[in-house]
Amino acid sequence: MRAFRRANLVRPLTLPVENSVTVLSINCAFDSGAIDVVSLSNPQDIQLNIRRDNASDFAQWFHFQLSGGKGKDLKLRFLNIANTAYPPGWDNYDVVASYNRVDWFRVPTRSDGKEMVVEFHPEADLVWFAYFEPYSWDRHLELLGFANEFEHVDLHVLGQTLDGRDMTVLEITNAESAVPFAKKKKVWLTARQHPGETMAEWFVEGFLERLLDPDEPVSRQLLDNAVFYVVPNMNPDGSVRGNLRTNAAGANLNREWQTPTMERSPEVFLVRQKMLETGVDMFLDAHGDENLPYNFVAGCEGIPAYDERHQKLETMFKTAWLAVSPDFQTEQGYERDEPGKANMTLATTWVGQQFTCLSYTIEMPFKDNANLPDPDVGWSGERSRIFGASVLNAVWTVLPHLR
Ligand SMILES: [Zn+2]
Repeated sequence: MRAFRRANLVRPLTLPVENSVTVLSINCAFDSGAIDVVSLSNPQDIQLNIRRDNASDFAQWFHFQLSGGKGKDLKLRFLNIANTAYPPGWDNYDVVASYNRVDWFRVPTRSDGKEMVVEFHPEADLVWFAYFEPYSWDRHLELLGFANEFEHVDLHVLGQTLDGRDMTVLEITNAESAVPFAKKKKVWLTARQHPGETMAEWFVEGFLERLLDPDEPVSRQLLDNAVFYVVPNMNPDGSVRGNLRTNAAGANLNREWQTPTMERSPEVFLVRQKMLETGVDMFLDAHGDENLPYNFVAGCEGIPAYDERHQKLETMFKTAWLAVSPDFQTEQGYERDEPGKANMTLATTWVGQQFTCLSYTIEMPFKDNANLPDPDVGWSGERSRIFGASVLNAVWTVLPHLR
């Protein structure tokens, strides 16, 4: 993916100008922008509330631009963290910031369970803050454009969201390979059902770049033997609106898989319809987790169809991923469901049951991977991209055993 050329300027240390009349301002009127400003009159006591999703009570995502703070000692207080969707998500969490919207870094942040405080001395006029490195709608379109130029890719627009955005799935295979289309394994990857979990689309970007690399042997074999269906963004409206968890109608899409409707959850309705048409031999659904500082997977051991074969595939998949990525681990994760007790409204469980196939939710951290931390950036878009590329080895390992 092309990026803007970076300035190699060394920024001079800026001192506050005497009698400076620069006025602080905060703006979030842009793609995925979200914050409520309570008070901006004192740079040492900037008061903010994390905004709720447009049609639900979930609040956790924020993304805003602060201007006029260059050379000033700023103190930002997030007042409502106790009333957000995942209060433990703020423990040991550091806010991300950027001067150019390309390079994001962590800013030391503290919270006491009641409020979260960021003290910061901006080196430039504009600084952007976010819950995690954003993934813009423009970048989403550029990702589609990137894929669009490969002969192995067919892009299908399945229909539109409530706000009128396209639901797009990429169908990827080598049509020239010896294996007939009908015999190829059907591998699905979806991301960003929860739109604030932007690491999920960074994951897809790395996955696609490697899968489409014509010199990559694993990818060549995969495309000879499988058809991939990739939905890089399951929740376009929520993404642009700056929601953490829901679509334009306030639906949590990962609770809509049993009975989606075009009125409430067209995103799921359309993708599910396509899955029923193509069949599914393996499914991955990429997410981010607010609390746990690890990458992990959650399977569907609680669905009625779960059996020994399913368990063997899971073990094979996890073993293969562990072998290629130190960012993956299996010690930490969600509690396993009791047999037959799974919530069947989730994508992973619905697909696992409907198609009796290997079906995993992939969770990445908002914080960092505690097993391999990087205090400068924490878990990041780039690390998610590399992680997304690495999963192809695990897919390659299990592929011959899927049916
Ligand atoms: Zn999620």
